[in-house]
Amino acid sequence: MTCKVCAGEWPAKDHKIAELGLTVAYLHNDQFFTGWTVLVLKRHATELFDLTREERRQLIEEVTEVSRTLAVVFDAVKINYELLGNQLPHIHWHIIPRLADDPAPREAVWTVKHDPKRLSPHELRERVSHIQKHLSIRRGTENSQHGHVPSKT
Ligand SMILES: [Zn+2]
Repeated sequence: MTCKVCAGEWPAKDHKIAELGLTVAYLHNDQFFTGWTVLVLKRHATELFDLTREERRQLIEEVTEVSRTLAVVFDAVKINYELLGNQLPHIHWHIIPRLADDPAPREAVWTVKHDPKRLSPHELRERVSHIQKHLSIRRGTENSQHGHVPSKT
């Protein structure tokens, strides 16, 4: 069975936010939960135990970087981190900011019935570039100050 990620069929290229060290971040195509992002491992692996210790360390840093950015950009109440892979067994994290107006704040997003919300091409570009801007500020700051991050929003 060929992997949809490795075959370049998912996620959609126009949803790309940024390339990090081991992963690439994309805006999820369903924006019912505003800011829903997927962080996809560049190389093929299915389980965390398939990674080296160093890769796992790096991966969790990248998840953290993206989630902290989303928390700021969308003023999230809580971030959800989901690593499932039942449907698509190639490591990808769903990083989902849960906002103050969340229709079901105590539930996992998968259990919340809704019509998928597709953004217009204009909205998509705006949202992606908004996240990109904050992510690059944050990364620049961290690289120059060794993790000491002043609150720059
Ligand atoms: Zn793959």
